[in-house]
Amino acid sequence: MDQPKIAVFALGGTIATQPGQSAGLIPTLTGEALVRTVPQLADLASLEVTTFRQLPGPDLAFADLEALASAIENAASAGADGIVVTQGTDTIEETAFVLDRIVASDVPVIVTGAMRSPVAPGADGPANLLAAVRVAASPAARDLGTLVVFDDDIHAARFVTKAHTSRPSAFRSRPSGPLGFVVEQRVRMVAHVNRLPPIGRCASPQRHRVALVTLGLDDDGALIELAANQGYSGVVIEGYGGGHVSGVAAQAVGRVSPNIPVVIASRTGAGEVLSGTYGFPGSEIDLGERGAIRAGWLDGIKARILLTLLLRHEANDIARHFALWGGGTAASAAR
Ligand code: ASP
Repeated sequence: MDQPKIAVFALGGTIATQPGQSAGLIPTLTGEALVRTVPQLADLASLEVTTFRQLPGPDLAFADLEALASAIENAASAGADGIVVTQGTDTIEETAFVLDRIVASDVPVIVTGAMRSPVAPGADGPANLLAAVRVAASPAARDLGTLVVFDDDIHAARFVTKAHTSRPSAFRSRPSGPLGFVVEQRVRMVAHVNRLPPIGRCASPQRHRVALVTLGLDDDGALIELAANQGYSGVVIEGYGGGHVSGVAAQAVGRVSPNIPVVIASRTGAGEVLSGTYGFPGSEIDLGERGAIRAGWLDGIKARILLTLLLRHEANDIARHFALWGGGTAASAAR
């Protein structure tokens, strides 16, 4: 029987690190070398490996991921049954969400990495890569958007978050749990997400900086206005509780929102931004009247990704896109 065809794109990260000339690890392993460290892959799939970037996770940019999305679509058109992306874990929760939102193909796209380098005792990269290829080759993973496979859990891109600095079990899904897991040779899906239509891409997206501002006690929100004055194209605020800011910061939101989109998420990291409970200055009702857009249940990190993509690809109704995630404005809310 023909083996499934899996395209592997290596971007760097801990999974590809080796000791450098001076102190510390750097991502220098090629994708081909990485795949050679897992001989069991040959029994699973026929692999086409591309060393796409050799970067630490924090150096990946939107332009890298847009180029990767095109390469993924080309590989799918050329007959790949699934895609595996290996990269740094520091930004997986963001890059997976980018791919989920812009790849126009129903082929499984699986992102993985490692928390321990290939030279560390108990290195987790080989097991993660093997599990990722297994999931990418599984028909059960089709049409679920981008998935993150890590420590034998299968996470939806929209839910996944890096929740620990160093453990191999660093990834969590919220507000729900993982969609499935890998056990022995099996891919077991126990939940399903409805894929949302991807954002249409511009041929030459322009650079847009979006500030992510987390508020703290006695915060006047000066950074909100500073970002607007420094040429940022949008601001995501991680406000208190249900999506609140102080009365002073609310005035800053009101001054900025006629010029650039201001999106309110919650710094709590769980739950949906409220839409109609509180009426004090800086509450969700007040911020809505001042023109702010609710992030819904997306956290600040993912709301920033979504807003940046919408700006880069010139989407014409930003609030309506946030309404797909339970946010938006009163006029756009999906109730
Ligand atoms: N700690 C990161 C990793 O796990 C480093 C990076 O993101 O490149 O890969």
